[in-house]
Amino acid sequence: MTSRHPETIALHAGWRRDPATKAVAVPIYQTTSYQFDDAAHAARLFALQELGNVYTRIMNPTNDALEQRIAALEGGAAALVLASGQAATAFTIQNLAHAGDNVVSSTDLYGGTWNMFANTFRDQGIEVRFVDPADPEAFRRATDSRTRAYYAETLPNPKLEVFPIAEVAAIGRPLGIPLIMDNTAAPLLVRPFDHGAAVVMHSTTKYIGGHGSSIGGVVIDGGNFDWAAHPERQPALHRPDPSYHGAVWVEAAKPLGPIAYILKMRVTLLRDLGASQSPFNSFLTLQGLETLPLRIERHCANAEAVADFLAGRPEVSRVIHPKHHRGVAAARTEKYLTRGHGGLLGFELAAGAEAGRRFIDALQLFYHVANIGDSRSLAIHPATTTHSQLSPEEQLKTGVSPGYVRLSVGIEHIDDILADLSQALDAAGTVRQAAE
Ligand code: PLP
Repeated sequence: MTSRHPETIALHAGWRRDPATKAVAVPIYQTTSYQFDDAAHAARLFALQELGNVYTRIMNPTNDALEQRIAALEGGAAALVLASGQAATAFTIQNLAHAGDNVVSSTDLYGGTWNMFANTFRDQGIEVRFVDPADPEAFRRATDSRTRAYYAETLPNPKLEVFPIAEVAAIGRPLGIPLIMDNTAAPLLVRPFDHGAAVVMHSTTKYIGGHGSSIGGVVIDGGNFDWAAHPERQPALHRPDPSYHGAVWVEAAKPLGPIAYILKMRVTLLRDLGASQSPFNSFLTLQGLETLPLRIERHCANAEAVADFLAGRPEVSRVIHPKHHRGVAAARTEKYLTRGHGGLLGFELAAGAEAGRRFIDALQLFYHVANIGDSRSLAIHPATTTHSQLSPEEQLKTGVSPGYVRLSVGIEHIDDILADLSQALDAAGTVRQAAE
């Protein structure tokens, strides 16, 4: 059965029934290893002449169903699930860049990604050059002969300005440089491959799972990048790999499809570094994924209603939501967010940090957590939590003012969401009244 509709793909892609028991739900294949048919079968699997289950660190049938389903939803060729979004990000880069190489990344990143790029990768000899995504040409200017990839988030918070995917992908493609997109905040809303990205990753911890029970990550190979045309630019896929009896990945993958990038990631990085997703977490993530198309609609509708509500409140000096942008950011919202604006938004309390603290403490329905993309509504005051190690000037540079509050709007009834925000704003408003 093939469909181009996400509602159908989320329920059907990658799995029909268990071949042995005919079970309809994807079973949790809680096994470490798989019996080979015979010695010749084992040899073929190890030689990559045939793809099949060998050992769960590298592949597993429950994980496989999730991988196929997410690849189908993104319009990619193949996927690899990993233990966390962080592992997925690390692998997207380490699959191409080695010590002495560099990557050009947008400055607008999740803090954990920023730390990995600025510190851990630096320690590993991989330089990450940060550029402002407001000007796509900045990616070209930062490129040199050792640049192996471009990296960005589709809808980064706190600014929530959509990344210029097609513009930057078009700069990289003729140079042999793939654009890797973190699409965590915009699943189903934006398909980066449709705009020229070559690789997509998600933290499945967020919207894809939705239930807030499981950490996980996934990398999807678009199968749309001509690695073979760029041997100098992409040595990792062209040099004989001594860890796999001299395999040249662009050649070795040919019989299996346009999956050189993700095949190499699975059989070398995952084999060696072992950041595997447990089949149990894949099972839970599949449960969430089945309802993602419905949930994301409600996330978008509720967030938009919250943005409009906040814009009318006197305690709020600014609303940050893709629909409320002006200028270039508004044009990018219009170009890319045609299916909805996502569930995230930010706002600034005119009375500053103390009002932010009071607002958070007064919330009753919203959870105060450092997470996004849960079905429940979530809130955080970055100036006193996630960004508290930065100086006030650094906070402002990342888009966090003292009174900035981030909301991840859930799928509860909108009346309950607005009622909670309203009473918490009343509590925060007392700060200003006291100051007046
Ligand atoms: N990318 C984005 C945009 C995120 O928000 C996060 C987590 O907050 C990650 C990556 C990392 O994912 P994980 O927490 O699953 O490791």
